[in-house]
Amino acid sequence: KPLVFSGIQPTGNLHLGNYLGAIKRWLDLQDSHECLYCIVDMHALTVNPDPVELMQFTREVTAAFLASGIDPKKSIVFNQSRVRQHAELAWVFNCVARMGWLNRMTQFKDKAGKDRENASAGLFVYPNLMAADILLYRATHVPVGDDQKQHLELTRDVAQKFNNDYSDRIASLGIGVDMQVGDEQVSGFFPLTEPMISGPAMRIMSLRDGTKKMSKSDPSDLSRINLVDDADTIAKKIRKAKTDPEALPSDVEGLAGRPEADNLVGIYAALSGTDKETVIRDFGGRQFSDFKPALADLAVARLSPITEEMRRISGDQAYVDSVLKDGGERASVLAEETMRHVRDIIGFLQD
Ligand code: ATP
Ligand code: MG
Repeated sequence: KPLVFSGIQPTGNLHLGNYLGAIKRWLDLQDSHECLYCIVDMHALTVNPDPVELMQFTREVTAAFLASGIDPKKSIVFNQSRVRQHAELAWVFNCVARMGWLNRMTQFKDKAGKDRENASAGLFVYPNLMAADILLYRATHVPVGDDQKQHLELTRDVAQKFNNDYSDRIASLGIGVDMQVGDEQVSGFFPLTEPMISGPAMRIMSLRDGTKKMSKSDPSDLSRINLVDDADTIAKKIRKAKTDPEALPSDVEGLAGRPEADNLVGIYAALSGTDKETVIRDFGGRQFSDFKPALADLAVARLSPITEEMRRISGDQAYVDSVLKDGGERASVLAEETMRHVRDIIGFLQD
């Protein structure tokens, strides 16, 4: 079975972007792929969270995975810090990746803001840890939102440079696998991971600003729909969502240059499991005062069962913790298998 890895940071309440861009798409992969779904607490540390909140959000994000339909018997669900090999491989990749590559990462620029001197060094090398998360399991498929595209390209670059730098060692140990790179057939240790980014909701935008992505870390709660929001709150946030004064266009091309309208139509499409064309066929020419209540009803219908289930699961902390422990044990076995090879390849002595 092909192997899937994906993760979410326990940095706050999960929102509609996390659900549509990531979790919802993970569900369909559980039968056809071997899946690891990770609460990446080590990534959260890059922004210096409060320890008690970090534990709380780690459990909450786990509950959200389970409530959405991630089955811990089929998929491996765990928190990253339990599997020490993530840190170990990240160090190796800190020495493989180049400063120039990291300097180009837009997420660092966005998150560090103006006071770059004061950002943690961890935030700068975040993409190397992400490459380690994926390559530790030699995952071939990574379902994420569009904002992670650049990090996935860096993951491929890291894998490719590692394969090149150590090609002789990999060949003499006889542990390379054949893969296609462009027109060339090459052998390497790490696979060149495929991003899985497609569908109408790969970048859900803030409800307050159609040019900014919806984020856990946005200070305005009105900017996002949280999975824990109740029906009234969801309806209020959609009613208050920023839009332009025009009616919805009569075809999808008419959404170009209208980021807020495009965003709401995309959300409707993803929640109803259709595409923007279908939504425009039904709502083209209608005013937002018509469309917004329909969108709010749909969002409440889709999210409220998840919210309820999340509350129920969160009430059973022992169960949540046992899922993470079991997942951590299963992930550690796979991780150690890769790391034994990596230590041999790079020349670290081990028993
Ligand atoms: P933070 O603000 O702390 O970075 P976040 O909302 O960006 O939080 P992450 O934990 O960084 O969430 O990302 C988890 C997953 O959710 C990733 O696959 C990411 O691509 C996806 N994702 C995050 N925001 C959106 C969005 N607005 N639209 C679609 N997918 C998203
Ligand atoms: Mg993010």
